[in-house]
Amino acid sequence: MSDDQSIAGMSRSDFLAAARAHAEWIEHYFEDIRNCRVLPRTKPGDLRALLPSEAPETGEPIDRIFSDFQSKIVPASTLWNHPRFFGYYPISSAPPAILAEMLAATLNVNAMLWKTSPAATELEEVTLSWLRQWLALTDEYFGIVYDTASVSTFHALSAAREWADPTCRTKGMRPGLTIYLSEHTHSSAEKAAIALGFGQDYVRKIGTDSAFRMRPDLLQKAITEDLAAGLRPCAVVATVGTTSTASIDPVSAIADIAEKHNIWLHVDAAYGGSAAVVPEMRFVLDGAERAHSIVLNPHKWLYVPFDLSVFYTRYPDVLKRSSSLVADYLKTPEDADVVNYMDYGIQLGRRFRALKLWYVMRYYGRDGIVAFLRESLRLAQLVKTWVEEDPVFELCAPVLFSLVCFRHKSGNAFNERLLAEINATGQAFLSHTVLNGQYALRLVVGNMLTKEDDVRETWTLIRDISTRLTEEFAPTAAHV
Ligand code: PLP
Repeated sequence: MSDDQSIAGMSRSDFLAAARAHAEWIEHYFEDIRNCRVLPRTKPGDLRALLPSEAPETGEPIDRIFSDFQSKIVPASTLWNHPRFFGYYPISSAPPAILAEMLAATLNVNAMLWKTSPAATELEEVTLSWLRQWLALTDEYFGIVYDTASVSTFHALSAAREWADPTCRTKGMRPGLTIYLSEHTHSSAEKAAIALGFGQDYVRKIGTDSAFRMRPDLLQKAITEDLAAGLRPCAVVATVGTTSTASIDPVSAIADIAEKHNIWLHVDAAYGGSAAVVPEMRFVLDGAERAHSIVLNPHKWLYVPFDLSVFYTRYPDVLKRSSSLVADYLKTPEDADVVNYMDYGIQLGRRFRALKLWYVMRYYGRDGIVAFLRESLRLAQLVKTWVEEDPVFELCAPVLFSLVCFRHKSGNAFNERLLAEINATGQAFLSHTVLNGQYALRLVVGNMLTKEDDVRETWTLIRDISTRLTEEFAPTAAHV
């Protein structure tokens, strides 16, 4: 189909004009973003109703598709790349990485084998070694990129299973292998335990202290009881930056116990790990150098567009035993001399994700990244002081990173309503959690575009809405 005038059926001039128009739209999007709602007004089914239910028989001009993107898709999108997106853990799509994604789609390499993608394979090795240096981790750690932390943790537990039960590959897993999490470990660890066949009955949720950190004494107690009951402790997951409150489990004390019982220690630093790039925050990974594996998500807080999760392990041979199966058609003459990343995961085909990480690391350098991270940390401290100074609000957890967990003192129904009203304005987006039965709001600063005015105006919005709701919730004469 391709001739001098077209690329795969798209005329070169159309391609160039559309590429320019798309780039201009992206530039304008960032310019205008504060005029856009963070949360759309969309109701379930709204977008589907706007789109034809029948698949297209004939092609359409790119302008028409692009126009529908602008008028239908964008207004139905929750804008995660918005400076006032403060919910869950905010993410950022740095402009250089947007360009890198275009290039990755253009090359469209499949990074399954070194042979099928020498550059993608070696760039993954190089960028993950650079990141290791930024994190001050030793070069004992082998790195691989997966899509998400959920998948990274799945591979951690898969390697742990192989470590504890080397015959599971051929015979299947023997019952009784037990996993230790805390009440605050991300649900992805338990999901991995289900999918890998450990079974939920063999997942222990260890209690936490008043700052939501796993209690090592309770971990030791659970392991002792399980050993006495004939079970086989297999892995423990410690978290640096838990999902609800960003608490940090006592990794060194947990490592002592893991080493004593020869069980796999996986550190989930999906969010918090990025902070360790900042020299004065490196302490958050103290003890993590003793972990068998670590996950951190550059797509969470290192400004790389979704998705890119980094998994490090000191035991790549164990990971490989748990994941590798090389069919004849996948063998290459270079196999003995290279890393074939397909050997270290359940998927064969792999995207060229390292390219966007390389663009971000080179474009900003460590100094630039540290400046962005420090600004998020500073703004979170600012929000923390506003909460502390306001008599109707209270903090629900220590502010260690860029997450402020707080609540209005008026009870769960009030806080639930407060969050719904804030988000309904479209001016900012926060999320929630429940701590010891109390509904709490989470405000996390993490998007690269966020400025002090964004958090200041959001705090004013929160206060204004809470004042209005206080009147509404106040007992009326009829109730008194
Ligand atoms: N671990 C922690 C601590 C998280 O907060 C999250 C998500 O927010 C995850 C894991 C899962 O991340 P992903 O969406 O990359 O699977």
